[in-house]
Amino acid sequence: MMTKREETLRAELIQTCQAMSETGLTFGTSGNASVRLDGDSLLITPTGLNYDDLQPKDIVRLNEDGQLFGGRKPSSEWRFHRDIMKTRRDINAIVHVHSDAATALACRAEGIPPFHYMVAIAGGDNIRCAPYATFGTEALSINAMSALEDRKACLLANHGQIAMGDDLAGALKMAGEVETLANMYWQSSQGGTPKLLSNEEMRRVLKKFETYGDHTAPFDDGLI
Ligand code: 13P
Ligand code: ZN
Repeated sequence: MMTKREETLRAELIQTCQAMSETGLTFGTSGNASVRLDGDSLLITPTGLNYDDLQPKDIVRLNEDGQLFGGRKPSSEWRFHRDIMKTRRDINAIVHVHSDAATALACRAEGIPPFHYMVAIAGGDNIRCAPYATFGTEALSINAMSALEDRKACLLANHGQIAMGDDLAGALKMAGEVETLANMYWQSSQGGTPKLLSNEEMRRVLKKFETYGDHTAPFDDGLI
């Protein structure tokens, strides 16, 4: 018996994957996504299926004890989805894509430094690039978890990016932000090295981000 919540999340996961393709964040069967169901159990996309053809029954449930439910095999990246979901109780959804600009940077094993204040959107003063490891391996999961420390996104060397959020919409938005930043950084690097913001300035930006968009927060007089 499937709960209403599971039904809703399966539908949301499919919509997210279709949005990943429609927005150009990914192509073909590259990428995958997951969402927390209860505790450490999660719903994850199946491996190697076209997003346009996905049906709710194709989504795989991975229970806390590692048991799999569903007629399909889970994404080859189930390890990092499971490990991140277990260690990061502050997030509920993960999107992984091979978006062009993020991947182009990652193929130089480069993260994104504080060239623009929006880098803070991922939670710190840079977006790290995890060292390369073969797709679908425990080694990749270990590298990714370390690059994601105190962050909501990271690049994966010679591979792509991982973005996380409170929910699937948030994780998808974060993937879009990372791709936009990677594109800007790439363009800005064409004429030389972009001028970076100082640690002090990024600390200030991170502080302002704590209440950015919060309409119940006190009015920001812009004096600090
Ligand atoms: P899956 O189709 O197995 O999810 O693999 C796609 C991918 O991006 C692997 O890193
Ligand atoms: Zn991938």
